[in-house]
Amino acid sequence: MLIIGRFSGLDRSDIFLHDCRRLSATVISLIMAVLEERLLTRRPLAYILGEQEFWGRSFAVSEAVLIPRPETEILIEKVLRRFPAPAPASEPRQPLFLDLGTGSGIIAVTLAIELPWMRGLALDLKHSALLQARGNARRLKAEGLEFVQADWHSAFIRRRRFSLVTANPPYVAAEVVGGLQPELRHEPLAALDGGKGGIEEIKRLTAGLPEIISPGGWFFMEIGYDQEDYVLQLFKGSEYERVKVHRDYAGLPRVLQARVR
Ligand code: GLN
Repeated sequence: MLIIGRFSGLDRSDIFLHDCRRLSATVISLIMAVLEERLLTRRPLAYILGEQEFWGRSFAVSEAVLIPRPETEILIEKVLRRFPAPAPASEPRQPLFLDLGTGSGIIAVTLAIELPWMRGLALDLKHSALLQARGNARRLKAEGLEFVQADWHSAFIRRRRFSLVTANPPYVAAEVVGGLQPELRHEPLAALDGGKGGIEEIKRLTAGLPEIISPGGWFFMEIGYDQEDYVLQLFKGSEYERVKVHRDYAGLPRVLQARVR
């Protein structure tokens, strides 16, 4: 459906409603070429088409970044529930959010658009990912976003206080990352490989988190389906409250939330 739409110029409903409409030979050969590439190389469709939809918007994606997953929309949904629009002029200063390991920028760009009274900082270790994220901010006209090339909690980050921190860190266990489906081998390993047990990066990223979140500020992080117990343990300290793991549409643990006291 996505492939036909891309090359024929028809949208989803056109394809359903006018399925008798003839596609030209050129369009058919383009579609066949894509299918052939998919079959031969197992290159994910999002990379072949160069885009992927997230939260109702189309993001550009290349091999420099992880392909947006629908599960990450759960994180957006939970954040938006906690950050309703403030009463006009209730805040003299615009609150700030931080997106750690922004990749294609889906979280940062979506939040910048959906929460226009906040400013955001999108951080990634990789320059190539930041270029993609910045390109997506431009493509979708997201405003109030800054991009920073840095590791989790660099000195630069430590000087700030955020009302909201989000992250979709690499959380796949290093032991299994090599044995995943062939499509995943086209994605950047650094965005998937969470080290031993899949928790090394989570451990590093969450250390010192209360120092960069303002009191009452929130943290939301996507996690692996088998990491609920681990993160609940990690966040049971007295610095946090309202710690909870939300489930995805498949009923699997997927998003950790915590509020800094
Ligand atoms: N959800 C991805 C997967 O299952 C993993 C993403 C990540 O590590 N952040 O492949």
